[in-house]
Amino acid sequence: MVLEKVTQDACFGCGACVVACSQGVLSLKINEDGFLFPELLGECTACGLCESVCPVLHPPRVETKAEVFAGFSFSKNLRVWSSSGGVFLSIGLNFVLKGKVSGVVFDNDFYQARHVLTSDPREVLQFSGSKYVQSNSTSALRAMKNSKGPFLFSGTPCQIAGIQNLIAQGILQGDFLLVDLFCHGVPSYLLWWSYLDFLRQKVGRILQIEQRVKLRDWHLFHCRVFGDRGVYLKSFLDDPFMFFYLRNYFLRNCCYQCPFRGLRSCADLRLGHFWGVFFAQDRLGTSLVAAFTDKGLRWLIEDEDIFLQSMPAEIVPASQALHLSRPVNAESAFLSLRHGTSIEDIFRKNFIWEWRKKKIRSVLFSFVERNPRLKIIRKIVKYLWRG
Ligand SMILES: Cc1cc2nc3c(=O)[nH]c(=O)nc-3n(C[C@H](O)[C@H](O)[C@H](O)COP(=O)(O)OP(=O)(O)OC[C@H]3O[C@@H](n4cnc5c(N)ncnc54)[C@H](O)[C@@H]3O)c2cc1C
Ligand code: SF4
Ligand code: SF4
Ligand code: SF4
Repeated sequence: MVLEKVTQDACFGCGACVVACSQGVLSLKINEDGFLFPELLGECTACGLCESVCPVLHPPRVETKAEVFAGFSFSKNLRVWSSSGGVFLSIGLNFVLKGKVSGVVFDNDFYQARHVLTSDPREVLQFSGSKYVQSNSTSALRAMKNSKGPFLFSGTPCQIAGIQNLIAQGILQGDFLLVDLFCHGVPSYLLWWSYLDFLRQKVGRILQIEQRVKLRDWHLFHCRVFGDRGVYLKSFLDDPFMFFYLRNYFLRNCCYQCPFRGLRSCADLRLGHFWGVFFAQDRLGTSLVAAFTDKGLRWLIEDEDIFLQSMPAEIVPASQALHLSRPVNAESAFLSLRHGTSIEDIFRKNFIWEWRKKKIRSVLFSFVERNPRLKIIRKIVKYLWRG
């Protein structure tokens, strides 16, 4: 049985074992550290099915070669609603004419994110925008198990690895287009829930959360929250959740040793943000797109609503982190969170100076990045501010 062989530290929380379980006795629950982990709720017959689909025990084949593009939707609306270039929405809206699409939404109370499966284009629009917490994919995967495709599933690379194993075992059947992300990692729900408490103090009952709003500039994105008592609007540089997330605090353990960084994927397509000088003047958002399979490439180039520009694969390591290090004080910060210290208090007591330094640096760098003629100054700034 999978729980005897996979530790909580190694588990991705992908949910494949839960969907495979022959007795339906596994469920994906949030553990005391705030991470999704399978739990045994009934009698196990030791059939071994859950083990056979676990990507930790049986890593599926990972592709490392891809055709790489910069891309964005020709529709300004789709682009503005999306996290980067709106490539996902464009493909998703085309796909839903032929099959079903699975993407991520928040629950009504924002307590958790989850995958849903739909054939309704209006629901596909709800998938736009990154939700920076781990989504529970099990009910969407069960819906796929019980219905006919073709299916488009979009999720984190480790969720796709679980799906590849479910397909290989014949538990999921049909035609799949699998889309993953250049994935930074997923933070603990303890951080997310503490952030929700912080937001409720500002805006009352939360009605809508947008974690990547493009106001003036896509590079300097904002977090916007609507509540029944007001609106919270902060640049990502001033938002405590984004501060911790982007500084690699409170992430799931496996994310620090993720086997899917850079160009390593089990999906057909991978999407991310196209950082760097090429589209530095762009205000609306550009996606970094990698096609690992012919099927992925076909869906991409046959989509007449997407602008595509071929790029060398070397652009990927230049714009995406290939390794993620755990900050030295990550464990003590996690202990404070576990003991109920609020996100605001942890931030104020231990991180205010780091935040000030980071903010000045980010503003400086983003200004220099967007002015290629300042390359020499950039080099000097980098040299003076190294480490
Ligand atoms: C947790 C997470 C970490 C990421 N880390 C990076 C990174 O380090 N570097 C980078 O370049 N890009 C990262 N991305 C991807 C980036 O934010 C955009 O999603 C991507 O550029 C695609 O943009 P888009 O405009 O095409 O579509 P978007 O509007 O972003 O929609 C893309 C798709 O993401 C799916 N999605 C949203 N939230 C989740 C979730 N919690 N889990 C699984 N799927 C989800 C939606 O269902 C939708 O299908 C990350 C995304 C997530 C969710
Ligand atoms: S061994 Fe079989 S019955 Fe037991 S949890 Fe795994 S899949 Fe379910
Ligand atoms: S299948 Fe996924 S959720 Fe289940 S134990 Fe393995 S990694 Fe964890
Ligand atoms: S960083 Fe890797 S292990 Fe963590 S959620 Fe993303 S794909 Fe999964």
